[in-house]
Amino acid sequence: MSDAPIAFIDLAAQRARIGAAIDEGLLRVAHHGQYILGPEVKTLEADLAAFCGAKDCITVSNGTVALAMPLMAKGIRPGDAVFCPSFTFAATAEVVAWLGAVPVFVDVLPDTFNMDPASLEQGIAKAKADGLKPKCVISVDLFGQPADYDAIEPIVAKHGLWLMSDAAQSFGGSHLARKVGTIGHVTATSFFPSKPLGCYGDGGAIFTDDAEMAALLRSLRVHGQGTDKYDNVRIGVNGRLDTMQAAVLIEKLKILGDEVVARDAVAKRYSEHLKDTVPVPSILPGFVSAWAQYTVLVPAEARAAIITVMKAEGIPTMVYYPKPLHLQTAYRHFPLAGNGLPVSERLANEVLSLPMHPYLDEATQDRVVDTFRRALKAAA
Ligand SMILES: *Cc1c(COP(=O)(O)O)cnc(C)c1O
Repeated sequence: MSDAPIAFIDLAAQRARIGAAIDEGLLRVAHHGQYILGPEVKTLEADLAAFCGAKDCITVSNGTVALAMPLMAKGIRPGDAVFCPSFTFAATAEVVAWLGAVPVFVDVLPDTFNMDPASLEQGIAKAKADGLKPKCVISVDLFGQPADYDAIEPIVAKHGLWLMSDAAQSFGGSHLARKVGTIGHVTATSFFPSKPLGCYGDGGAIFTDDAEMAALLRSLRVHGQGTDKYDNVRIGVNGRLDTMQAAVLIEKLKILGDEVVARDAVAKRYSEHLKDTVPVPSILPGFVSAWAQYTVLVPAEARAAIITVMKAEGIPTMVYYPKPLHLQTAYRHFPLAGNGLPVSERLANEVLSLPMHPYLDEATQDRVVDTFRRALKAAA
């Protein structure tokens, strides 16, 4: 068997499939010259909304801004509490702190790695006890699987909060009958190149069925402009998606559904061959993961050795995330739900993500699986 290094995410394989169409789109933009909010941006927004069934889609410059703008639209401010998991990428909590509000960290479930509804309840109680005003929940669809919204939404409703779904990793997935993009008051996603739907640079989008929210987001995206371009009616940002990126995404979106099916087949086959050795990803019945990552749990004390052995055999692995947010320097002074977040802390020591993309052929999957099994045995 070859030990040539393989790709963790193989964007070149995707280019072999649709590269010509993407390049044509990029050239078209170069020629028409409408680099900012050109026709491709409008087309993409309509295509994205149609893909998931949301009423409105507002494309933006990256996934972090996609998370921040709805908080701005809702007037999140100092004294407000926004609940989010600690086991996530920093952007989820960062945007809350931007506005001077307080991110309250909530624990995740040990099997799905998504927000623990019981911990959310504890977080809300903690915020109230600290004199904060509970306002918003940001759930994260970690590694591509939607959070358990049927359990989260009643808690959001009971406390009069609103829900934003951080779907940076899950666009293309679904929660029973609902597609990602239609869950919660607003959904934010990212088109960072390594996400399930990635562009050739930075990009993001916001989805909502709330027409008033959509209008506010379109204004915020261009410095809070009103009907008169030079009479700004609110404080906004420069949050526009480049027309070039829209041209790339128009082509990639056409094959996203097919790519999610291919990722799912890789994941199922990985799990089939690994489930007797380690805990494999647990996908809830009726949920579809977009498989941003395929993540197993390994014994904490064996992880470094497994990574080293696999790397030597040309198999890249990643640790998402080695440190939960509540243990990071910039975030450790924010409040926590309950008595600490033990699941987030344990997962940070045990997670290991294997190569995952839609173009992983069976021979390469077998190589990943065989190398992992040998590395695990050697490290145990
Ligand atoms: C990638 C990511 C973001 C941020 O997206 P950018 O486009 O990189 O700004 C936010 N939340 C999560 C969970 C992510 O994975």
